[in-house]
Amino acid sequence: MTYRAQFKFQGIIEVVCGSMFSGKTEELLRRIKRAQIARQKTQVFKPSIDNRYSVEHVQSHDSNKIASQAVSKAMDILDLLEDNTRVVGIDEAQFFDDTIVEVAQKLAYRGIHVVLAGLDMDYLGQPFGPMPKLLAVAEDVTKLSAVCVTCGSPASRTQRIATPLGDGGNKVVVGAQEFYEARCRFCHDPNLGNLGFSKTPEETVKTLQSMLVTEPKSANLPNLLPNLLPNLLPDSLNEEKRIHA
Ligand SMILES: [Zn+2]
Repeated sequence: MTYRAQFKFQGIIEVVCGSMFSGKTEELLRRIKRAQIARQKTQVFKPSIDNRYSVEHVQSHDSNKIASQAVSKAMDILDLLEDNTRVVGIDEAQFFDDTIVEVAQKLAYRGIHVVLAGLDMDYLGQPFGPMPKLLAVAEDVTKLSAVCVTCGSPASRTQRIATPLGDGGNKVVVGAQEFYEARCRFCHDPNLGNLGFSKTPEETVKTLQSMLVTEPKSANLPNLLPNLLPNLLPDSLNEEKRIHA
């Protein structure tokens, strides 16, 4: 084997991380497509919790998409790995448990180029799931930023601006992007998202009023309104609507 050939299939781990709206999935798809153009066999995986848009595709917010396989646990990736796969993409890596680190390492030692994308921090600004460990073992880390909707600076944090209805305290609710926005360190407020909309109509109105005062620039407020309308109605009225529907 020549010197060149030895390094032909050297495996590495790359991590693309950042806040919501920073273009992580877009960057993951770009890297996968680049490998496909070079006729390298690729496989893309995502946790099955992420069922927004499509179960068979990894899709970014602007509808760019690529075929993917949803797996319920990280180890399934090893079972589903096909012969001759050279590049493995893994989206929403923050939703896996720590075994994703072991899986990524195994893939890299097999000579596979692994690209993982995920949120480095949850909406509280705390390290998210296995991401810190993935960042530690990766050869290459790309940290993307979004734009802070409040001040326009580069945004590193995901701000939860309200608690999605029926949310039992999840770290990030998948597919509920209108409840989140990107903010910088200084505009990020971990306590803001605790304002609940899931209680009585009176509380919802109060929460809305206080948001209009404290968060007048929140770009997502108008998007939230349709979600909140049913909640603003008294239960009896909702019940009546259901009967007449
Ligand atoms: Zn800011």
